[in-house]
Amino acid sequence: MADLIKPQNTIAVLQKYQFHFQKKFGQNFLIDAHVMDKILAAAQISDNDFVLEIGPGIGTMTQFLCEHARAVAAVEIDRNLIPILHDTLSGYDNVEIVQEDILKLDIGKFALEKNNGNPMKIVANLPYYITTPIVMGLLESRVPIESITVMVQKEVAERMKAGPGTKEYGALSLAVQYYAKTELAANVPPNCFMPRPKIGSAVIHLTCYPTPPVQITDEKLLFALIRASFNQRRKTLVNGLSHDPGLSLTKEQIHQAIEQTGLPLTVRGEELTLEQFAQLAETVRMVSGISNKQ
Ligand code: SAM
Repeated sequence: MADLIKPQNTIAVLQKYQFHFQKKFGQNFLIDAHVMDKILAAAQISDNDFVLEIGPGIGTMTQFLCEHARAVAAVEIDRNLIPILHDTLSGYDNVEIVQEDILKLDIGKFALEKNNGNPMKIVANLPYYITTPIVMGLLESRVPIESITVMVQKEVAERMKAGPGTKEYGALSLAVQYYAKTELAANVPPNCFMPRPKIGSAVIHLTCYPTPPVQITDEKLLFALIRASFNQRRKTLVNGLSHDPGLSLTKEQIHQAIEQTGLPLTVRGEELTLEQFAQLAETVRMVSGISNKQ
């Protein structure tokens, strides 16, 4: 099957199957060889690797993955794409096409069945309407994942890799950085896709940590504090935490915890590093007497 990254070959496949793009599935197919090279360079696929591709489309990236990986599983929601994938990937015996919604897939069971629970690599040009649930679902699943290399909306990539004190920094940055090291691999303009999206895109490479970079007794509390701090973004940390009904901390407890963490009472949540949020979670536990629920 011809090299699908060439726009004329993608068009030929679409016409052959009279395929119509479905907006609801976020279908923007990649048609730029330079971007494909950048994705593959960032993902560093070798012939030992088991790769999960989310949303293979007509199989453009899948073909490249099959060339480099030991085995590829491609999970596609759109039934209309399945016969096309069987055609475009017919030359490869190391690929399995799975018709499924990635958000409904039991990723732990899948990893065990397909790769004996060994670490896998994930590569995808993601449907933008569900980027965050997909990425966070994978990270939080605790399934062995070595890395995640994904095309996402540019602003989402910027939020994932942002550091304290920037306007992009928020709960998503901290959630992603708790599980993985983030690197921006490429910025990708709309003309690299068919059809063209209205927004810019970027490839982000996440290298998953074997254990989180901060030690924490109560993860739920850590993320509750992070969410509360950014819900009241423009306010001080004291105000953010005291207005959060889920936390039910008194102002005195909040003052005490912030001071014991070594922070000024005027500090804003957006200034805190992940380490500082982790320290804050520990002092909040102590001052409020929250027991270790783990
Ligand atoms: N990988 C192809 C490429 O780069 O040309 C297609 C990328 S396109 C941005 C996103 C793909 O994800 C589409 O094929 C779409 O049908 C598929 N998709 C959308 N929602 C999905 C879901 N919940 N589970 C699995 N695949 C999904």
